[in-house]
Amino acid sequence: MNQDTLRIGIGHDTHRLKPGGPLRIGGIDIEHSHSLDGHSDADVLLHALTDALLGALALGDIGTLFPDNDPANRDRDSADFVDEARRQMTAAGYQLGNVDCIVFAQQPKLAPHREAIRARLAELLNVKTEAISLKAKTGELVGPVGRREAIEAQVIALLETTD
Ligand code: MG
Repeated sequence: MNQDTLRIGIGHDTHRLKPGGPLRIGGIDIEHSHSLDGHSDADVLLHALTDALLGALALGDIGTLFPDNDPANRDRDSADFVDEARRQMTAAGYQLGNVDCIVFAQQPKLAPHREAIRARLAELLNVKTEAISLKAKTGELVGPVGRREAIEAQVIALLETTD
C-alpha cells in the first residue's frame, strides 16, 4: 500500500433484534428486553468499527477475515475482530486518529451508556477517550430501526502514519 499520510474508512452494520437480553453494544452488556441476533456475539458497533478500520486500510471487510460460516466465530467476542483490525493497522504503519460512531436504535436509550462504551472502545483501540465520538439516533418509529426490528451502526475512522 502507498504510505499515505492519512487514510479514511467507513463501516456500517445491521443486526436483527430477538427477545431476551442483555444487549451487547460497543463491548458492553446493557440490560434490555432484547439482544442482537448473529453468528458471533452480534455486537453491531464493534462490527462497524472493524469494517471502518479495514476499510481505511483497503483490506477487505470483517466477513473476509472472520467468515460467518466458520464454527470458530460462533458466539465469538467481537473484541477479537477489533483486535485483529488494530493489529493489521499497526502492521501497515498506521495509528488511529479518531473515530466517529452512530448507533441507530429505537430502544434502549444509549445516552446513559455513552461514556462506558466510549471508554471500552478507547481501551480496545488503545487511544484516549477523546478520540472516540459516540452518537445515538432513534428510527423515529419508522423503518426496521423504528419498528424495533433491528439496530444499526455506522463508524468513520481516520488513520495516520505512525512515523
Ligand atoms: Mg455484523
